[in-house]
Amino acid sequence: MPDFPIWPQCNIGCVFCSNPVEGFRQTTDRYALDELKKKLSDYKAGLRTFVKFDEERDYFNLTGGEPTNHPDFLKILAHIRTEFPANLIRLLSNGRMFYYEDFARRTCGIAQTPFEIAVPMFGPDPKTHEAISRTPGSWAQTTQGLRHLAKHRRPGQLVEIRIIMTKVQVRWLDGLLDYLLAEHPWVDRVVFLFEEIEGFAEQYKDRLKFTQSECAAHLDRNYEKLKRFKDARLYHFSLCTVPERLWPFVWNTLAGFKVEYQEGCRTKCAHREQCVGVHRSYARHMGAPDIAPIAVARAAVPTGDRFHPFR
Ligand code: SF4
Repeated sequence: MPDFPIWPQCNIGCVFCSNPVEGFRQTTDRYALDELKKKLSDYKAGLRTFVKFDEERDYFNLTGGEPTNHPDFLKILAHIRTEFPANLIRLLSNGRMFYYEDFARRTCGIAQTPFEIAVPMFGPDPKTHEAISRTPGSWAQTTQGLRHLAKHRRPGQLVEIRIIMTKVQVRWLDGLLDYLLAEHPWVDRVVFLFEEIEGFAEQYKDRLKFTQSECAAHLDRNYEKLKRFKDARLYHFSLCTVPERLWPFVWNTLAGFKVEYQEGCRTKCAHREQCVGVHRSYARHMGAPDIAPIAVARAAVPTGDRFHPFR
C-alpha cells in the first residue's frame, strides 16, 4: 500500500497534525484530478513510487490534508476503484463531510469493496473533541457522519476509529471510550496510535509529549474496555514500553525509514524480531527514556505475523 495524499488542505486544525508546515497546504495545483490520474497510471505501469509503504502493492491509504475536501473526490475514488478493482482502499478522513448524508451514501456506493474508512475521535463531547480539532462544530459533524456511515456502508466495508495518543488526549481517554462503547458499538476497529511529533505538531510538542510507558499505563487502566471493542489495536508502540497483557493488541505498522533500533535492541532484546522498534521522532523529541531490552522472552504466544506478532 502506498500512502497516497490526494488533497493538502484540511477543514480541522488538530494540534498533533504531522503534515509538513512549509507550503504544503498551498500546493493544491499539484492535486488536480488529471495530476492524480497520471500518478496512478504511472504507478500501475511501474514508472513511479510513493514515499511511504511503496513495497505494499495491494492497498492504498488515501490521505491529505483531508481527502474528502478534494473538489473531485468522488471521481478520484471511482477512478481508483476502476483501475484497481481488487485493492483495499482505506480512506483516512476526519469524517466531517459524511455529515452530508448523500455524500456518505455516494462514497460507500462508489468505493465498493474492499474499503475502509478511518476516522479520528478526540473526546466524548464538543468541548473536549474541539479542544484538539480546534474547529467549532466538528464534533457534531463527525459524530453525525459516523451515523451516516453506519447506515450506508455496504457489507464488507469497515469503519475504524483512530485515537491519537498524546498527553492532551489522555485527559479524555476514559470518557471517550465510554462514549464509543455506548454510542458507536458497531464500529469494526478502534486504533490507538502513539503520537508522531512531526510537522505542525512540533510547535506544540511541549504540550503533547509524554513517554510511551505513561501512555501504555493509561491504556492498561482501560484494559477491560479495550476487550469490549470488536477489534482494538495499538500502533507505533515499542514492546518494552507496553504491559504484557496488552501485547495481543500491538500491531506493527511503521514504515522502515521512520524507525531505528538502539544498541540494546540489537544485542540484548529477546523480542527484537517481533518489535516495531523505536520511532525516530520518539527518540528525537522525547529521548526514548523507557526503551529497555527485554532480557528474557515473555510468555506471550507469537503468531509468526510480523504485523500482528502476538495472539
Ligand atoms: S529494546 Fe528495542 S527491540 Fe526490544 S522491545 Fe524495546 S524497542 Fe523493541
